[in-house]
Amino acid sequence: MKATITLLPGDGIGPEVTHEAKRVLLAIAEFFGHQFEMREAYLGGCAMDYCGEPLPERTAQLCLESDAVLLGAIGGPKWDNPKATVRPEQGLLGLRKLLDVYANLRPVRAFEPLFHASPLKPERIQGVDIAVVRELTSGIYFGQKTRTSDTATDECIYTKDEIERIARFAFELARTRTGHVVSVDKANVLETSRLWRETVTQLAEREYPTLHLEHMLVDAAAMKLIQQPSYFDVLVTENMFGDILTDEASVISGSLGVLPSASLGEGHRGLYEPVHGSAPDIAGLGIANPIGAILSVALMLRHSFALETEAQAVETAVVEVMRAGMFTPDVALPEHGQVTTRQVGEAVIAAITANEAWY
Ligand code: NAD
Repeated sequence: MKATITLLPGDGIGPEVTHEAKRVLLAIAEFFGHQFEMREAYLGGCAMDYCGEPLPERTAQLCLESDAVLLGAIGGPKWDNPKATVRPEQGLLGLRKLLDVYANLRPVRAFEPLFHASPLKPERIQGVDIAVVRELTSGIYFGQKTRTSDTATDECIYTKDEIERIARFAFELARTRTGHVVSVDKANVLETSRLWRETVTQLAEREYPTLHLEHMLVDAAAMKLIQQPSYFDVLVTENMFGDILTDEASVISGSLGVLPSASLGEGHRGLYEPVHGSAPDIAGLGIANPIGAILSVALMLRHSFALETEAQAVETAVVEVMRAGMFTPDVALPEHGQVTTRQVGEAVIAAITANEAWY
C-alpha cells in the first residue's frame, strides 16, 4: 500500500524516539513491500523557536494532507515561562482539535520481561491488557480560562454528542474484546459527569445491550487500577481523568517510556504518539526508551492502514527485544546491561526481519 506520513519529532527526547520509530516504519515498508512517503515538520517548542508559533501553518497543512501523523513529544523548561501567552502545548491541543481526533486509545499492558520494572507485584499485574479510551478534544482542557491576581477558573463543558461519539468508540472496541466496559466519571459531584453517565447508559441500552457496562467514580477507579488492574478491559473516560489515569497505569507496564497511543476520529487518519513527554532530564543522552514510539507505529499500521500482520510484526519484535534483556536505563535493574535508544531500534528491526512467521 501507499501512505503519506507526517513526522513531528518535537522537543526533548521527541526527535530521538521518533528517529527509531521512523526506521521501524522504513523497515516494515521494505520488508512487506509498502510505500510510506514521510515528511517532517515542526510542532511545539521547536516550532516556536523557528517561527514563533507552536503549530505553524505548514505543519497544519501537511498533517491535514497525511494519512497518519507520528509525533514525538513537545515542551520543556526552555518554554516553561508561566507568564507566556504562547506555549508548546497549544500546538498539540490545536493539532488534536484540527484533526478532530476525539478518541485517544491508550493500551496499557504488563509485559512479562518488564515485571521487574513495575513497583506492583508480578501476580498483581500478570495478564493485564487494558484499552483506555480517553476523550481528547473537549472538557476542561479546552474550556474558557479566567485569571485575576487571586482567582482562577477553568470551564468544563461536554455536550451529549461529544459523549456519545467517544462512548460509541469504546463500545465498538469492546465488541472486539471481552465486552466489559468501565465508564469512569465523577457523577456524585460534577454536572458534566452526570450528563456523561446518563448518555453512556442510554447509548448502551439502545445500541449495545449485549455489552457489560459498569460505571465507576474516578477516585475508586484510581484505586482499583493499582489494587486489581486485571479487572479492567475497556475503560472509557473524559479528557482530564484519562490523562491522569493513564499516567498512573503506566506503573503497571514499568515505564512511561513503553506506552503508545493513537488518537482517532472519523475516517482512518490518526495521530500517533508515545504517552510520555519530552523528558528534558534525559534529552540528548541517547538513552530514552523508544518502545512507546515504536508501539505507536504498530497502532498506526493497525488503525490507519489496516495492516494487522505488520502491526503484530512490530509488537512481537518489541517483546522479543525485551525478552533478550535489551533495556534502556528506565527499565534496567543494576544487574542488567543498559542499551541505548538506537540499539533498541536496531534490535527491533533485526527481530522483525528475522521472524520467519512473516515470510
Ligand atoms: P515526561 O513524560 O517528559 O517525564 C517524566 C519522567 O519519565 C522523567 O523522569 C523522564 O525521564 C521519564 N521518561 C519519560 N519518557 C521516557 C522515555 N521514553 N524513556 C525513558 N524515560 C522516560 O513528563 P514531565 O517531566 O512531566 O514533562 C516534561 C515536559 O514534557 C514538560 O514540558 C511537559 O509539558 C511535556 N509533556 C509533553 C507531552 C506530550 O508531548 N504529549 C506529554 C506530557 C508532558
